[in-house]
Amino acid sequence: MTATIIDGKAVARAIHEEVRREAEELRARGTTPGLAVVLVGADPASVSYVTAKQKACEEDRIESFGHTLPADTSQEALLSLLAELRSDERVDGILVQLPLPRHLDEGTVLAAVPIEKDVDGFHAENLGKLGLREADARFAPCTPAGVIELLKRTDVQIEGANAVVLGRSKIVGLPAAMLLLRENATVTICHSRTRNLAEEIRRADILVAAIGRPHFVTADMVKDGAVVIDVGVNRVEDASKKRGFRLVGDCDFDAIREKARAITPVPGGVGPMTIAMLMKNTVRAARMRAELA
Ligand code: NAP
Repeated sequence: MTATIIDGKAVARAIHEEVRREAEELRARGTTPGLAVVLVGADPASVSYVTAKQKACEEDRIESFGHTLPADTSQEALLSLLAELRSDERVDGILVQLPLPRHLDEGTVLAAVPIEKDVDGFHAENLGKLGLREADARFAPCTPAGVIELLKRTDVQIEGANAVVLGRSKIVGLPAAMLLLRENATVTICHSRTRNLAEEIRRADILVAAIGRPHFVTADMVKDGAVVIDVGVNRVEDASKKRGFRLVGDCDFDAIREKARAITPVPGGVGPMTIAMLMKNTVRAARMRAELA
């Protein structure tokens, strides 16, 4: 079997188009969707993520409000900015770019984002509601939500499937597992202490790999006909590239594509979905504001 390659760029493009249409409709009704993007410090990777998010806002007709604070910003100053954004009616979503500098307490900062503006989906209450499968869970974290969207838009049946999630981080693995459970998959979560990892992975009809280990999952671990969603993004040295490295996933793409039914490439699979889902969450927040107004 040769796998279908799931084209995350194309799916993300379709979502951006839907978001843009919805943003235009909201604007026509007097509500301009707005996203505040808060960056503390100047970590190069964070700067480039923030720039990409602001560019996406511009393209999707969402107004963005950038707040760049120095790396030595105090917790009080950051919390006071978040309090301002909380009551700013132009701001539907607040995104605090992670990781924060070490002197800031991530839990306290994320808890200061009101749940109705928590478009990144990291507030404990939003995550808790997702876990409890409550109907009013507002926002799912963007990367795991992107995983589900990719599965749905490629007509993968989630309900009843054995889904194995490799990794249990609060950004990817754990919420991905919660979302798969919401969609009625039978979910196994694997991590660094899991025994017989290969055996667990081999049970997967749907495998979501999010551990950050290049080519960790090999073809012999994958069931024939499985659907493989590779969230991992890892740099491996490559002298043939100008920058000296290339990006690979957690799965051995070339070997697994001969065995799986469908697989996401890295790059171009899950990657583009994260920002697309952030934009989708932001217009959703704006729609909720418009409906409440
Ligand atoms: P993380 O916080 O480092 O978590 C890694 C998880 O993998 C942990 O739960 C860890 O287990 C588990 N793990 C690590 N090594 C393992 C091993 N050898 N066997 C089994 N489990 C192992 O990473 P993350 O933030 O979730 O990110 C995971 C990957 O996704 C990274 O490559 C990251 O770059 C990528 N990512 C991509 C996107 C995107 O495409 N948009 C977004 C976010 C992350 P323990 O809990 O036991 O330590």
